[in-house]
Amino acid sequence: MLIQDFVKLLTESGIEQNEANIEVKLLLEAAGYSLVDIISGKKLDNDTLKKVEFMVKERIKTRKPIQYIIGLADFMGEKFLVNESVLIPRDETELLVRKAVEIIKENKFKTIMDMCSGSGCIACMIAKLSQATVMGVDISTEALHVALSNMEKLALFNRATFRKSNLFEKIREDERFDMIVSNPPYIAPKFRQTLQKEVKFEPEIALFTKDEKGIEFYEKISADAPKYLNKGGYLMFEIGIEQSKDVANIMNNNGFSDIKILKDLAGIERVIWGKI
Ligand code: GLN
Repeated sequence: MLIQDFVKLLTESGIEQNEANIEVKLLLEAAGYSLVDIISGKKLDNDTLKKVEFMVKERIKTRKPIQYIIGLADFMGEKFLVNESVLIPRDETELLVRKAVEIIKENKFKTIMDMCSGSGCIACMIAKLSQATVMGVDISTEALHVALSNMEKLALFNRATFRKSNLFEKIREDERFDMIVSNPPYIAPKFRQTLQKEVKFEPEIALFTKDEKGIEFYEKISADAPKYLNKGGYLMFEIGIEQSKDVANIMNNNGFSDIKILKDLAGIERVIWGKI
């Protein structure tokens, strides 16, 4: 079998061409082949071929996201460890990280919190790209294991730390941060049926809210964040489609001003932030 055959198998099973190309690249990388090897048409040895073929077939049969099959996901040029207890980092989330890093550098911020950190992708990338230390917070013990492994993998010792806590429950009253960032669950339960098959492998608690607008975490986090932010501190969220007005109101009502919004490449309002 050739690389093109793997792509063909995937596209014939209904996976889009672009996506299939990306998936085969990820699979080959996981099997030890670099992009250069792939482009230069290096011949795959039999063992690798078998491994990749096995994974392609699993992908087609189960529809499990390729990142869970491999155990790795690309995010901002790094490979993050993932399993089914964490959300697969999304490209859109890069926008949140980039904007956060810009604000952190401008204001020389030192201490950041990443609420609902999941795989730790946001906490780790902010720590890697800035001088700040970041504390990731998550309710899931399994997710924290993944986040810690990612922190180790990226050698961010002391720069990215993690804590198990249901939102701010385990944050001490005297702890303060210059910025709180969060990509919380924001899908309303009514959208459960309309999601791609692949998303069903992702943890429900990372995806769904209980309220019908998908805004319960924006409400809870915005209500408590002011207590834990230094004066002039920022609160910053990733948001879903058509949530910007509601979230801007929530932030306003909790004392945040200078609310700003950034659109993603698809033109969707994706990142929102404000100052206390
Ligand atoms: N912060 C993680 C991410 O952006 C997890 C988000 C979540 O579980 N809702 O991928």
